[in-house]
Amino acid sequence: MQSMLSRFLEPLRSRRSQPHDINADLHCHSNQSDGSLPPKELALRAKEHGVELWALTDHDELSGLAAARKAAEEINLAFINGVEVSVTWAGETIHIVGLGIDDANQELVSGLRRTRDGRDARGIEIGKSLARVGIEGAYEGALCYVGNPGLLSRTHFARWLVSQGHCSTVGEVFGKYLVEGKPGFVPHRWARMPEAVQWIKAAGGIAVLAHPGRYRFTPMILDLMIEEFKSCGGEGIEVVCGSHTKDQYRRFAEVARNFNLLASRGSDFHGPDESHIEFGILPPLPDSLVPVWHKLI
Ligand code: AMP
Ligand code: MN
Ligand code: MN
Ligand code: MN
Repeated sequence: MQSMLSRFLEPLRSRRSQPHDINADLHCHSNQSDGSLPPKELALRAKEHGVELWALTDHDELSGLAAARKAAEEINLAFINGVEVSVTWAGETIHIVGLGIDDANQELVSGLRRTRDGRDARGIEIGKSLARVGIEGAYEGALCYVGNPGLLSRTHFARWLVSQGHCSTVGEVFGKYLVEGKPGFVPHRWARMPEAVQWIKAAGGIAVLAHPGRYRFTPMILDLMIEEFKSCGGEGIEVVCGSHTKDQYRRFAEVARNFNLLASRGSDFHGPDESHIEFGILPPLPDSLVPVWHKLI
């Protein structure tokens, strides 16, 4: 697999020995999931903002990868295939990023298809629950915001609710309507951790625990989760990422060292108007960590 995609990494070959110096951004979303830009525009934007190694990691979806890879190649930007898999662990949603995956691998393709399948039914229920608090037509409204009808996300509901004047920002919509305990929240069961990691590994990729600072676990439960993630074959963790504070960079650097995990860095860019973190501007990974891309380039 690595050899098949290795020509897309050619621009970086000479810098393999100093991986920390590479401006890698290995987490973002196109309009094939809940980002607002198409893959080609994302590639141009990543390059413009100084990214030297880029991965597209759409939620539960691989359909943007071919266009992203082609666009990156045209502008001499090193590219890695990625995905962000939605997982339910201990009743909570967590995200596992897969990097360096073969997007034609049938185990991954069919696993992700199953994961996506429940999204539309959840969307209909979200529409009904919003109707109960007087907001009619949300399901149909959210569908106007999708770039890919197979991937309806809460983000698309949030964009529609903003357009209707219910809130002024997407972030505000989540706080008021779309998170647990709020009127538009509908629980959903995603993939299980062992299967998500297995799909990524079957496709030749590296499984990376996304934005650990965002989960509502106690430190002890988080440690248990990481133990289980490792026992399933997980190898990496995001340390420097768009949703972490500086204190969390330090905390998760220590976690990466303690658990002997590869470290990743990514903005989680979703679009120019919504993401507070632009491509390529996060600080580098601490020198004491092994960047996940050391194994990928
Ligand atoms: P879904 O996979 O449809 O449940 O949607 C999850 C997505 O919603 C995440 O990937 C984020 O892009 C977005 N999201 C979740 N929580 C928030 C929040 N508090 N503010 C803004 N976006 C959020
Ligand atoms: Mn998202
Ligand atoms: Mn995520
Ligand atoms: Mn993401």
